[in-house]
Amino acid sequence: MSDKNLRKKIIVVGGGAAGCMAAIAACSAGGDVTLIEKNKAVAKKILSTGNGKCNFCHDVISPADFHLSADDEFISSVLKAYPVEKCLGDFRKMGITPLIKDGYVYPYSEQAKSVTEVLTRSLKGVDVVTECSVTDICKDGDSFIVKTSGKEYSSDAVIITTGGEAAPVTGSTGDGFKFAKSFGLKMKKCVPALTFLAVKDHPYKKAAGVRIRGTVTVLIDGKEAGSDTGQLQVTKTGFSGIPVFNVSRFASRALNEGKKVTLKVKFLPELSDDEIRGEFETRLSKQAGSAYDALIGLFPDSFADALLRNAGIDPDKKAEDADKTSEKLFKASRELSVVVTGCGDMASSQVTCGGVELSEVDAGTMECIKHKGLYLAGEVLDIDGMCGGYNLYFAWASGYIAGSSAAK
Ligand SMILES: Cc1cc2nc3c(=O)[nH]c(=O)nc-3n(C[C@H](O)[C@H](O)[C@H](O)COP(=O)(O)OP(=O)(O)OC[C@H]3O[C@@H](n4cnc5c(N)ncnc54)[C@H](O)[C@@H]3O)c2cc1C
Repeated sequence: MSDKNLRKKIIVVGGGAAGCMAAIAACSAGGDVTLIEKNKAVAKKILSTGNGKCNFCHDVISPADFHLSADDEFISSVLKAYPVEKCLGDFRKMGITPLIKDGYVYPYSEQAKSVTEVLTRSLKGVDVVTECSVTDICKDGDSFIVKTSGKEYSSDAVIITTGGEAAPVTGSTGDGFKFAKSFGLKMKKCVPALTFLAVKDHPYKKAAGVRIRGTVTVLIDGKEAGSDTGQLQVTKTGFSGIPVFNVSRFASRALNEGKKVTLKVKFLPELSDDEIRGEFETRLSKQAGSAYDALIGLFPDSFADALLRNAGIDPDKKAEDADKTSEKLFKASRELSVVVTGCGDMASSQVTCGGVELSEVDAGTMECIKHKGLYLAGEVLDIDGMCGGYNLYFAWASGYIAGSSAAK
């Protein structure tokens, strides 16, 4: 018997972030690994991450950065098995020098392509089969049969890393959920997350394109579900930007369940209510020209105009009563509350909220509790992180854990 025949045969289904890492880990742990990817090349999605720069990790990660259908112990266990330092160390070994900006970790080249290139290079030793779609996975005694359009593969273990349903153009079309269902695994319904929100009676439509700091809070049936602060982007239909992305999962799930979703927006988030009132009063009482002139330097121009109109103030005229006008401006800039009518679809969202329930896998190995030899990693699982490199971290970490465990 050759060495190859003694090695554990592992098939990784899906060559995205989790699949590449699982295959690399399984191979270096001694497994005989085949990675099957439906696209022409592996890691297609990575190319569009982080606006083409690939924010592949965060410098500090804690359970609070994720939403998951399990208690924090699940992610604590993942962080213990694959700490951020190990993740960054593994990427350094592959050739990626980290560049850290506000905690967001990028390759120093600031090119996502670098990450796909080093992953592809590191798959040396793995049998990589591209342009091949897996259609079914089933058990045959102790072995697994992985069916593709052309060929059937047999293995000792299978790692499902087919991603979720977000950005399906990159290959993640929810196939893993079909496989998981065929094994009787419990699933949480999938909805889009890390996406924009559309609102009714949008008061700042005319300021579309403006980027401005603010705090957004999502309320579901009147109860606060999530809040975040940072740079918002005003769009024609509502709001976008990182803080909106970070709260979108709550809105997305609630809208899907037919609940009432409200978005509260507070501009000038760094100032207290008293400071804002004072700021408006000072500017308006000192003003020589129009109400618009009084706001120059505080807000972007098109937003200042829209804010004044929204507050019922003519931007082109001098405000006669500074006290009353500043109170109106205070209300418009701090008490905006709009009904959320929709959010981005799967095609325009960055991650999937939902997926295979975490109770189906052992956090220490990513092995399916009901089916020995079957592993799941990455976005196919019901866990989604905030913007900032957390989703890719989870893909690497769960992929590493699954790959090294499967090869044992
Ligand atoms: C535009 C965009 C920007 C993002 N930016 C960031 C960022 O900067 N930082 C961050 O942390 N996260 C980011 N994300 C999220 C992150 O990319 C994903 O969470 C992560 O890639 C998930 O990895 P995965 O391996 O689980 O799934 P995927 O990367 O989706 O990979 C799944 C792979 O499986 C293959 N596949 C599917 N079905 C089959 C089948 N039947 N047979 C064979 N192959 C199959 C697919 O073709 C695909 O290659 C971004 C996402 C998008 C869409």
